[in-house]
Amino acid sequence: MKTLVINCGSSSLKYQLIDMSTEESMVQGLVERIGIEGSLLTQKVEGREKYIIKTEIKDHKDAIRLVLGALIDEKYGVIKSMDEIAAVGHRVVHGGEKYSESVVLTEEVLKSVEECNALAPLHNPPNIIGIKACMELMPNVPMVGVFDTAFHQTMPKEAYICPLPYELYENYGIRKYGFHGTSHKYVSNKLAEVMGRDIKDLKIVTCHLGNGCSLAAVKGGKSIDTSMGFTPLAGVMMGTRSGSIDPSVIGFLINEKGYTMQEVDELLNKKSGVLGISGVSSDFRDVRDAAEQGNERAKLALDVFHYKVRAQIAAYAGVMGGIDAIVFTAGIGENSSLTRKESLKGLEFLGFELDNERNEIRGEIQEISTDNSRVKIYVIPTNEELMIARDTVELINNM
Ligand code: AMP
Repeated sequence: MKTLVINCGSSSLKYQLIDMSTEESMVQGLVERIGIEGSLLTQKVEGREKYIIKTEIKDHKDAIRLVLGALIDEKYGVIKSMDEIAAVGHRVVHGGEKYSESVVLTEEVLKSVEECNALAPLHNPPNIIGIKACMELMPNVPMVGVFDTAFHQTMPKEAYICPLPYELYENYGIRKYGFHGTSHKYVSNKLAEVMGRDIKDLKIVTCHLGNGCSLAAVKGGKSIDTSMGFTPLAGVMMGTRSGSIDPSVIGFLINEKGYTMQEVDELLNKKSGVLGISGVSSDFRDVRDAAEQGNERAKLALDVFHYKVRAQIAAYAGVMGGIDAIVFTAGIGENSSLTRKESLKGLEFLGFELDNERNEIRGEIQEISTDNSRVKIYVIPTNEELMIARDTVELINNM
């Protein structure tokens, strides 16, 4: 069963075709600058040269038409006809309280998914535009929506209720939702598999550290807390996002310093975090290089980042009453031995021993604690696309 996984942003679209009989990714692609001058599609198949199409791509429907064409292209494609695509799995950022599981998408379901748009005005609308375009172009192919928030719907109330007037929760749905759920679910399950343990017996802290960063406390296979909140702005510091700060800063900037709300929003989402403190870049590699060359603010940015992650790991070990394992994933978590080492510094009392030599690996599944370590530390590359494809196949098979 070949499953197409689509992750639609406002001006970009990522896709993969996964052969679910082997769980192998057959092709990965990216459409960029949709609706903007200079739009292009790049498609990669292992062992072959990249396929790049530069053409006008007016909207998401155009983009999906181009993707389908690239998949069946005689020279660069991987399938002979669109009929080989058995199902499509779509990433949807926000499922609100309504969706604690993935769902088969029908016109009717889509309407209720649209009701979650107000909770994620930047992310959900493009996801839905992508779904609608696919439905039009592939009317007979079953489609599934997989939500970033779903895995965290198991959080207890004390973890997700904000200390605000309760009516704000009742009337407007203001609460912690959490994001990156597909990734936290994938790496925690993979960890249990690699450790040869039943996930029901494990207390795990999963650290998804990429451009966006979030941690989760996963107890018995369920998310019981996570660091992102009502939106993906909350929690630990990130590449350009501030993470959680004293909310009074916002009023101060607006009332005392003449900022507009829009400027503050932009500042918190796009100009803060590692970029904001370092003044160098939001890319960890650049900041690490600058720190190594003696740039004090770059060094400070890394120190603050590692401090925030360390404090969050400790907090989750606390709420779970101890831990069995810590997992690092995503761009920084999978690749940066420095970040893993520094984020764990001082936490050895939790019962682990880091193996510095093993910690030097990049981008592969590896235990990085010593053989004698009671608490295990692992690097596990995330695979959100595979998780989406798995949910898609499971739901389609039960239809
Ligand atoms: P993601 O959002 O998961 O794609 O992660 C992007 C982040 O991963 C960026 O901040 C990159 O700088 C970081 N990253 C990628 N490769 C490395 C590496 N080798 N060392 C450190 N950070 C890396």
